Amino acid sequence: MYIVLKLKEIMELLEVSETDAIKAVLNLVSPPPPPATRQNWSRQSTFGHSAPTTQDLWAKLVESNFRCDKCQSQMRLSFNHINSDATDHRLENLEVICFACNRAASVKGTKDADHHYKLAMAAIELWKKEHNYPTLNQIRDKAGVDQIGGATYLLKFIETRLNDKS
Ligand SMILES: [Zn+2]
Repeated sequence: MYIVLKLKEIMELLEVSETDAIKAVLNLVSPPPPPATRQNWSRQSTFGHSAPTTQDLWAKLVESNFRCDKCQSQMRLSFNHINSDATDHRLENLEVICFACNRAASVKGTKDADHHYKLAMAAIELWKKEHNYPTLNQIRDKAGVDQIGGATYLLKFIETRLNDKS
């Protein structure tokens, strides 16, 4: 119940329509289409111009119950080569992984997967207390993250929406 209220509140504050919210959810949980993965891998030298069959890729998704093998999220799934050899398409070398875990596994990705979420929620919480939009430093401290980074424009957007309601 609490989670529903939280979602409803965020949708109202950010003026997200129910249809857009449903579309976004459907988008996030749409599994990677095996034919597209197969086509991409077959085209690229990184993947040795080869790929598993679409049936095998689909079987992998079913086996993972359409969830990330690492964190169980259903969000933005893809296939990952466990041993980092992108040409080794043996099924035991493939795992289903979500966007956040995939990023965390990549070189770039020491980044906190919940970074944007924590900052946005912190901004909304602080605003609810004061009915005044907090400073970026206040948001960062409340969220407990090191830096705002790529969330700057998300926070500016939230500020615009919330200021309408102050
Ligand atoms: Zn994950």
